Amino acid sequence: MEKTIDENVQGTTLVVEGKEVNKRNLYIESYGCAMNFADSEIVASILATEGFNTTQTLEDADLVLVNTCSIRDKAEQTIRKRLTEYNKVKKTRPHLKVGVLGCMAERLKDKLLDEEKIVDMVVGPDAYKDLPNLIKEVDSGRDAVNVILSKDETYGDIAPVRLNTNGVTAFVSITRGCDNMCTFCVVPFTRGRERSRDPQSILVEVKELSENGFKEITLLGQNVDSYLWYGGGLKKNFENASDMQKATAIGFSKLLEMVALANPKMRIRFSTSNPQDMTLEVIRTMAKHKNICNHVHLPVQSGSNRILKAMNRLHTIEEYFELTDEIRKILPGCSISQDIITGFPTETEEDHAATLKALEHVKYDFGFMYSYSERPGTMAGRKMEDDVPEATKKRRLSEIIALQRSHCQFRTEKHVGQIQEVLIEGTSKKSEHEWKGRNTQSTVVVFPKENYKVGDFVNVQINDCTSATLKGVAVGYSDNN
Ligand code: SAM
Repeated sequence: MEKTIDENVQGTTLVVEGKEVNKRNLYIESYGCAMNFADSEIVASILATEGFNTTQTLEDADLVLVNTCSIRDKAEQTIRKRLTEYNKVKKTRPHLKVGVLGCMAERLKDKLLDEEKIVDMVVGPDAYKDLPNLIKEVDSGRDAVNVILSKDETYGDIAPVRLNTNGVTAFVSITRGCDNMCTFCVVPFTRGRERSRDPQSILVEVKELSENGFKEITLLGQNVDSYLWYGGGLKKNFENASDMQKATAIGFSKLLEMVALANPKMRIRFSTSNPQDMTLEVIRTMAKHKNICNHVHLPVQSGSNRILKAMNRLHTIEEYFELTDEIRKILPGCSISQDIITGFPTETEEDHAATLKALEHVKYDFGFMYSYSERPGTMAGRKMEDDVPEATKKRRLSEIIALQRSHCQFRTEKHVGQIQEVLIEGTSKKSEHEWKGRNTQSTVVVFPKENYKVGDFVNVQINDCTSATLKGVAVGYSDNN
């Protein structure tokens, strides 16, 4: 299953082939959303020209960077534990420097340096180009902080180095920040206001990936549907743009089309969509281009209009259903996945029942479900009491997960009997004799390896399934090779 926050990759150390001239070792560990993993590739690219090779061995490191997540309290606690581990290594490697990157750096700023003294360097998500200067500061014995959020930084001019890659799938960031101000969410505070990346730099990056053998990209942003390029700058300042800028502006469906047309053999995915910003134009563009995958990740968060309002999600559940119904009409085979938060402040049993009803209505292919975690500084954190008892949150979450699991089974079974195109991503976790890949809907498919190889597009006859995985046998190459 594709995950917004993939628990399997949390804390992955990222490595890339080293340069001989580089004399220092960077150990970089990443947590959180796909955006963070993509950012670590930008950081490694910046530091590769500053004398650093990557290592997977903490004890060999001269610099440890941890790219952090603040989305829930649990994520921050995991990272705090890791910071104490790094500090233990410092006892035997006194020259070792430790830096915190990403959302926790932005949220806690110099608290980690001054009060807790557990790191040497704090670098927010918009300050990675300043890393060479900040490293010089820590090398000369001073602490270093840069948590300035930017109006226009998109890192569009930096070619990420692909870390721990399967050589087949890659993330391409298209927007940074978020303007939505959902009351539960820390992202607008840690990643700043929304800005979009120059489409030409996106096209160049995708072309390079294609030339290097990559077969699938995911266009990435907190809210991809809100993508708007009008020459640079914050999305909120678009109203002040010139008439010419407004007339030539490029929105998400246009960008999607440009990427699809420029790379007809490349599979294209995107994440995450926000229901309030997603247009049917995007769905029609998906229907028009065979290489855009039939999957929409459309977080619903709650099925109760009262809770949606309190969350500042700017749509009702009826409007959400209209959208999912239209998606199914325009693209009948399209999978839809969700994010849900249970136990948001004031949530009653009636609200919870509305969420279960929403699940029943859409019957999502898969989803990512969380208990509400109060985040300091957010509107809900400041104005609402976290009043749903933990035991109630836990029970509601398990009811939601159980229902979603039955829908996963329902949706997955529908693929059985079909021949589907699968892009091979690697060896199955369960058997070294089987490949693992995904169909266009993003459902995992496993099948015997035979003579196929990673990166091949293969037609697979689907014979069986579990709730999350399809099983089959290859019947030949697809025409996309
Ligand atoms: N930008 C996307 C959106 O608004 O739909 C996704 C942002 S977030 C990285 C991924 C998911 O984490 C959210 O969709 C939400 O379900 C969950 N999440 C965010 N803040 C949370 C909180 N305070 N407690 C629990 N879950 C949270």
